[in-house]
Amino acid sequence: MIRPHLQHVAIIGGGFSGTLTAVNLARLSTAPLRISILNCAYPSGRGIAYSTRRPEHLLNVAARNMSALSEYPNHFVDWLLTRTEYANIPEAELRETFMPRRIYGDYLRNLAWHYSGPQNSRSRVEIKNIEGEVIDLIPDALGARLLLADGTTLLADRVVLATGNEPPADLSGAAALAEHPAWCANPWIDWEKKLPAPGGTIVLLGTGLTTVDAILTLLALDWSGHIHAVSRHGLLPQSHFKGVDVPEFPPSEIDLASLRLTELVELMEHHCERLRRRGANPAIIVDKLRPHTQRIWQSFTDKERQEFITRYSARWNVIRHRIAPSIHQNITAAVADGRVAITAASITGLHAAGPKIVVELESSNRTPSSLTADLVINGTGPQTRFSATRSPLLRALLKRGLAQADASDMGLKIAADFTVIQKDDQPSPHLLALGPLLRGTLWETIAVPELRGQALRVAQSLLAAAPNSAADEAAVIEYCI
Ligand SMILES: Cc1cc2nc3c(=O)[nH]c(=O)nc-3n(C[C@H](O)[C@H](O)[C@H](O)COP(=O)(O)OP(=O)(O)OC[C@H]3O[C@@H](n4cnc5c(N)ncnc54)[C@H](O)[C@@H]3O)c2cc1C
Repeated sequence: MIRPHLQHVAIIGGGFSGTLTAVNLARLSTAPLRISILNCAYPSGRGIAYSTRRPEHLLNVAARNMSALSEYPNHFVDWLLTRTEYANIPEAELRETFMPRRIYGDYLRNLAWHYSGPQNSRSRVEIKNIEGEVIDLIPDALGARLLLADGTTLLADRVVLATGNEPPADLSGAAALAEHPAWCANPWIDWEKKLPAPGGTIVLLGTGLTTVDAILTLLALDWSGHIHAVSRHGLLPQSHFKGVDVPEFPPSEIDLASLRLTELVELMEHHCERLRRRGANPAIIVDKLRPHTQRIWQSFTDKERQEFITRYSARWNVIRHRIAPSIHQNITAAVADGRVAITAASITGLHAAGPKIVVELESSNRTPSSLTADLVINGTGPQTRFSATRSPLLRALLKRGLAQADASDMGLKIAADFTVIQKDDQPSPHLLALGPLLRGTLWETIAVPELRGQALRVAQSLLAAAPNSAADEAAVIEYCI
């Protein structure tokens, strides 16, 4: 099929993934191109993660690995060095620093502005930000027509889905609490204005990164009351650490992607045990697997993926998504001196009790208990069952057969070039996707080190698929390396 000249790309989602797709299109396209970034709910250019204004919310990846541009690994550190407050910090130290996330948001905004601000008026690529929620996509002979919640429409040749993480899934009883003043369903919006009086009780549902954010804020605000964090395993994220050299893992003679799940687990446990005997932290084994994780995941059968999720993913996430050592110290100290209590239990229900909320729990030996709170924050992590998505847009795409869930029902099914696969198993003529939406296909697809490469490859796919776009072949090849 000969595609018409690519004139207008619409990107739905203005977080890291959408912004960097636009930036890479602007860098690579040598033909005139219009780009519209449609975004709602969180500030464009920052998305959920980097819109926090709280200084205590730090990146969970060191500065040296947070460049937004894969082919310029030092880009973020170089940008930091342009700011007076970091200019005198030795570069080696700055590289290892876990910067405030709001500073990273400034970096992304700056990058986006560089390609779309008024100084760019002579560029052949025009980037426009549109505030609004896209709720439907209707294909027609001219392209894909996007319908926004305010009733306006926008026609584009190609559409990129960069809709990011969904708010946490509903818990039993949560629907009835929607308007309750003590309930916070979305932990990524300002909940500080609901802070109970000193001496009150806050229950944080989940013990992952979002709960860590909330605890840090409560400590920074010097809030004096009872803080409980509850999750099935009661495991808090681990700290980043300086790892030992483990040249023997992964063994060079083994192709990791040819191993079955049980063989991989055995291999990892064997190497973890060796490290434990050396007195070293075995979590380094998970880090060393990272360059191979997507390939391994893709080689698993559906049954193995399911087994991994049910048996190993909680432990994997605790080890894989580590936090800055300073944050870990603060949290550990707060747990040790009783300011924060961690409970390992399943959350079985929620109900209102006047101005308070009762959280019903059940321990692993089936003993019921409950906590009564003045504020309950749902930090159980983004909703991951794709077919249960609450996004009107994603529901519309599924209903129209313009997309289908991947086999694990964790996200969208895509082809190798990021084109969305329709219900009829044909590649979509309009849609591409990237970011957390690809969890089921790639597993490792939520952090900057993966997303920056995806944003580049999506831009390359878009330009390469349009013969008249005059995408610079040499540039594309250079960026692939
Ligand atoms: C609290 C938090 C902290 C994190 N910290 C780090 C970190 O330190 N380092 C790291 O590498 N990663 C971190 N991550 C991972 C993070 O997910 C990625 O780094 C990245 O920010 C994901 O960006 P995204 O654009 O894919 O999604 P998002 O940031 O979720 O952005 C998607 C945007 O699309 C909008 N949108 C969705 N649907 C529509 C629609 N229908 N119409 C219009 N707009 C729509 C959303 O409202 C949102 O603004 C963190 C994640 C979270 C949640």
